[in-house]
Parts: sequence; structure tokens; C-alpha cells
Amino acid sequence: MRKPTKKSLTKRLDTAWSELIRSRGACQKCGKKTNLQAAHIWTRARRSTRWLPLNGLCLCAGCHQFWAHKEPILFTQFANNILGDIKFKLLQQQAETIKKWTLNEMQDLLKELENPESSMSAPLYGLTPNIPGKKKR
Ligand SMILES: [Zn+2]
Repeated sequence: MRKPTKKSLTKRLDTAWSELIRSRGACQKCGKKTNLQAAHIWTRARRSTRWLPLNGLCLCAGCHQFWAHKEPILFTQFANNILGDIKFKLLQQQAETIKKWTLNEMQDLLKELENPESSMSAPLYGLTPNIPGKKKR
């Protein structure tokens, strides 16, 4: 198999992250179950939080495009309510940290994102690679 590149892993991580967020099954704003999208709380330009499940909200296309993107202050308050103050602050700290992903870290992260059982139970998953006890058995 060809060695993956950072570019190809970024694409696969984006897809795996989006699928994981959308697997929540309903818009976290209005409850709609169709046309679901994964919305980033902190912009995907911030690579430290780009693929954290904690940084994603499952929104229907309408709430994503016509509410989240139009009302950034309300969206931020909404995200804070959903996460709670502690996780919201942790996410902010992580978002404000510069993170350079290594190829190995990206591959580990991809494996975890593609294994929802472990990812969903570890909301800060990805903050530190190789969390003990989070390995798939
Ligand atoms: Zn909605």
C-alpha cells in the first residue's frame, strides 16, 4: 500500500470526523433528521481542534447555513450550552494551541475516529495521542 501523505490523511480525517458528528442522527438545534451536516465550533483552519468530536455539532443544512453561519454569537452561546462551561473552556484552550500533526498521529486519530464506540466515550479524544484504555481490543 502506498504511504499516505498529510494531504490524503487530512481528507480522510475530515470525512471520518464529519461522519462521526452526523452519526448523532439529528440536528442538535431543531431535531430534524435529514440533510445533516457537521458544523465546526472553532474553524477548521485551527488544526489543533479540527478533528475533535468535541469541536463538532450535528446540524441540519438549514440550521448550519442559515443560522450558525449567520448568527455567530448565538451559535457560540449555543455551543457553550451544549458542551457546558468546562468542556467549552477546554476546547478553547486546545483551539488556541498551535498543533502540528505528525503522520503517525494523524493515522492514530483516523483509526479512533473510525471506531465511534471509543471516540464517543472520549469527548476530548485526540487531545493526547495513545490514551491508555482507549485502544480497540
Ligand atoms: Zn436544524
